[in-house]
Amino acid sequence: MARTALVTGGSRGIGAAISKALKAEGHTVAATYAGNDEAAAKFTEETGIKTYKWNVGDYDESAAGIAKVEEDLGPIDIVVANAGITRDAPFHKMTPQQWKEVIDTNLTGVFNTIHPVWPGMRERGFGRIVVISSINGQKGQFAQVNYAATKAGDLGIIKSLAQEGAAKGITANAVCPGYIATEMVMAVPEKVRDSIISQIPTGRLGEPEEIARCVAFLTSDDAGFINGSTISANGGQFFV
Ligand code: NDP
Repeated sequence: MARTALVTGGSRGIGAAISKALKAEGHTVAATYAGNDEAAAKFTEETGIKTYKWNVGDYDESAAGIAKVEEDLGPIDIVVANAGITRDAPFHKMTPQQWKEVIDTNLTGVFNTIHPVWPGMRERGFGRIVVISSINGQKGQFAQVNYAATKAGDLGIIKSLAQEGAAKGITANAVCPGYIATEMVMAVPEKVRDSIISQIPTGRLGEPEEIARCVAFLTSDDAGFINGSTISANGGQFFV
């Protein structure tokens, strides 16, 4: 069934692939972004998907943005909390600011994205929530105490929401990508990239579309019995 979907950070990288995949499923998609107006305008021009700008770390901005999306496109039945950042540093050099920025965006941002749509989903008796976590939230990572904490926290959020939403027809699941060929990963020096790839049994980076296909499935009407689950899409690099 065609529904309205919200994808945070949906104009670039993995989020852009998710927005396109959900549009291809027949859904009306709103893709949000933080500040890169140029990328967002280009994305809308290429795909016809509407973009909206707000900081997911700010509750009031998120609630106002979500209200505007619902006014434009109708009640949101599908939420993909994808927006995320890194501020890497070894723990002894990590600043409180680096900690706070990542917590605000990757953890509080997920709360701020889901909380305003939750009452409507409960009332309508349907909802699909997917959070994009990370392999590094499952296994930890050198110089990513802040990032790993948020991505592990995101798994706690979906497992709890799965229990709260189940009786109301709402599912909450996570996808944990391994290393994906986004601009960020492709921008690292080739030598570093080769060393990353050497740790992936599949012998290559993942494609954003491979994550998007997981999300398209988890948000489909057919996936109603999958709740509180995590799909690890990492080329066999780590399993729980
Ligand atoms: P990108 O950096 O390519 O894109 C991030 C998107 O999030 C952009 O649209 C950006 O907006 C938006 N964004 C960032 N901060 C905020 C904010 N405060 N408020 C609203 N929007 C914001 O990221 P990726 O595609 O690489 O990653 C997407 C998700 O997947 C993240 O959660 C990341 O942690 C996770 N992930 C990525 C992996 C990878 O290999 N790439 C591996 C595992 C997990 P703008 O365009 O305006 O900057």
